[in-house]
Amino acid sequence: MVHCFGRGEIPVSVSSVPTTGGLAHTVRAVGAVSEGLCAARVGDVLGLRGPYGTGWELERALGQDVLVVAGGIGLAPLRPLIRDAVAEPSRHGRVNVLIGARTPDDLLSKWETPRWPTAYTGVTVDRPADGWRGEVGLVTELMGQASFDPPSSWAFVCGPEPMIRATSCDLVRRGVAAEHIRVSLERNMRCATATCGHCQLGPVLLCRDGPVVSWDRAESWLSVREL
Ligand SMILES: Cc1cc2nc3c(=O)[nH]c(=O)nc-3n(C[C@H](O)[C@H](O)[C@H](O)COP(=O)(O)OP(=O)(O)OC[C@H]3O[C@@H](n4cnc5c(N)ncnc54)[C@H](O)[C@@H]3O)c2cc1C
Repeated sequence: MVHCFGRGEIPVSVSSVPTTGGLAHTVRAVGAVSEGLCAARVGDVLGLRGPYGTGWELERALGQDVLVVAGGIGLAPLRPLIRDAVAEPSRHGRVNVLIGARTPDDLLSKWETPRWPTAYTGVTVDRPADGWRGEVGLVTELMGQASFDPPSSWAFVCGPEPMIRATSCDLVRRGVAAEHIRVSLERNMRCATATCGHCQLGPVLLCRDGPVVSWDRAESWLSVREL
């Protein structure tokens, strides 16, 4: 939980790799608090508490193909996982990273993807800009280009809820077990200590029991609309 004094506190994922030292957050300015964080300069004081909640558990995918699917800012929390997966390719099967964003300007991966030489990386945008020579379309449309054996694959998905739903359903149709699909659900979080109830989704409090949960549990919960 990152606090911008005078504005408030919001949940933000860790996007750095723990072993490299330091703590990095990647924040998209969408409202009062995130705009305040993005406007912070060296020397400004911010509040920080945590970490809270569940992680990706990449270690469950040892020896198996790995599929990482990110939409927009959803790449930020997946970055440590991708860095771990490509750092030691012998620990996993094939590693695929599929990235979607609304426009080329929204792509977080521009400076990072060349450092993932051992992963297949597909990138697409919804709306191309002048000079864009890459793919155009939804991130699910990249799935056919990825190389993975569905019954022995694990998938890690983060992005807007409609993208999570479409991606997970597509993966299940292709034969990936729903228990092998990890999704990060970013509902309205306030206290992060399982006290206030703002992030309740079905039977769970996402700040404590999530945000990363398996798709076999999450699918029915997502029919509950966020207030
Ligand atoms: C577990 C978790 C991890 C997150 N990690 C990151 C991260 O690494 N980087 C990052 O930039 N953001 C992340 N977010 C989202 C971030 O917390 C919200 O963007 C933030 O709360 C917005 O607060 P605000 O005061 O700036 O804007 P507000 O005024 O509260 O909201 C501005 C607009 O953004 C929409 N919005 C608010 N929260 C969300 C959300 N969770 N998902 C989609 N739309 C939302 C609102 O509906 C509104 O339209 C994460 C959220 C969760 C729950």
